[in-house]
Amino acid sequence: MSNKVVCMYCDHEEEYIIKEEPQHICINGVDFDTTFKYAYCKKCGGDVYPSNLGRYNDLQMFDGYKKRVGLLTSDQIKDIRKKRGMSQVELARFLRLGDKTIARYETGTIQEKSLDLLLRLVDNDESYQIIKKLNQKK
Ligand SMILES: [Zn+2]
Repeated sequence: MSNKVVCMYCDHEEEYIIKEEPQHICINGVDFDTTFKYAYCKKCGGDVYPSNLGRYNDLQMFDGYKKRVGLLTSDQIKDIRKKRGMSQVELARFLRLGDKTIARYETGTIQEKSLDLLLRLVDNDESYQIIKKLNQKK
């Protein structure tokens, strides 16, 4: 992958460096600290915006919030799904949710508390077996 991006100050594609910077966030009255990554043009030091950084920072923000309020993080949701050997769509159907629901939460979207509970029930061996049985009865 190219590590060049168009710098609006140089008006040209330039290499960039990435710096991690502390960030104070407030969502719905909940505040916490995290780190964001910012990119700067190697030539002039001006701020540049490679497309992958926005996603990274969004995830830092959403996962920071999830941790702070005691919800499963995106990675924890992914781990639970992998532990059960299911694809995102399979897990969504297992919980009778829309096909794209799990994919959304694994990429940052903040889940409802009720959905968070469902995911913890999938994580727990006993309740996982019960849901599995209930789904087989159809
Ligand atoms: Zn520049």
